[in-house]
Amino acid sequence: MAKALDLKKFIRDIPDFPKKGIIFKDITTLLKDPQALKASVDQLAKAVSKLKPKYIVGIESRGFIFGTAVACKLGLGFIPVRKKGKLPYKTTSVSYDLEYGTDTLEMHSDALKKGDKVVIIDDLLATGGTVGAVSELVRGSGARICAVAFVIELAFLNGRDKLKGLPVFSLLQY
Ligand code: AMP
Repeated sequence: MAKALDLKKFIRDIPDFPKKGIIFKDITTLLKDPQALKASVDQLAKAVSKLKPKYIVGIESRGFIFGTAVACKLGLGFIPVRKKGKLPYKTTSVSYDLEYGTDTLEMHSDALKKGDKVVIIDDLLATGGTVGAVSELVRGSGARICAVAFVIELAFLNGRDKLKGLPVFSLLQY
């Protein structure tokens, strides 16, 4: 059997981006490598398929990359959650606190129905604020969240604690 790829080798650390003190986890170096890209999508898809969701909900913008790839691989539909003002039809929205100020995310009001099973995908779990807000949005539609899945988890920020009771899956932990 072929040796498993060490995906951490494909993540590039960018110190002080977008501001001082943040080490930005750059995934473009993973996306650029065909084997690393395939391995990350395959591994996410393997974890997600066991949960048998109906849809993948992806968070703008890097969640779209992995979310659509996983949805496609598993033959599922994809639902985008976007930043305010980007979606063309009727939307429901959720606002959440950032370090300074707030941000708003939106989903089409008719995207999910009561009882739909979904997995939410983003590239990275940091404090859990973003995915926590998206969970609220999804739950508000009556849909059921089977799990939230990420390529990278910054475990030292304890984002999981904010997502009480939600199963969390990540490929790489720091
Ligand atoms: P949070 O809401 O704190 O969990 O932050 C998660 C969102 O911010 C994700 O959409 C990430 O893409 C982005 N993000 C937060 N911290 C980083 C980081 N150190 N490197 C790359 N992206 C990050």
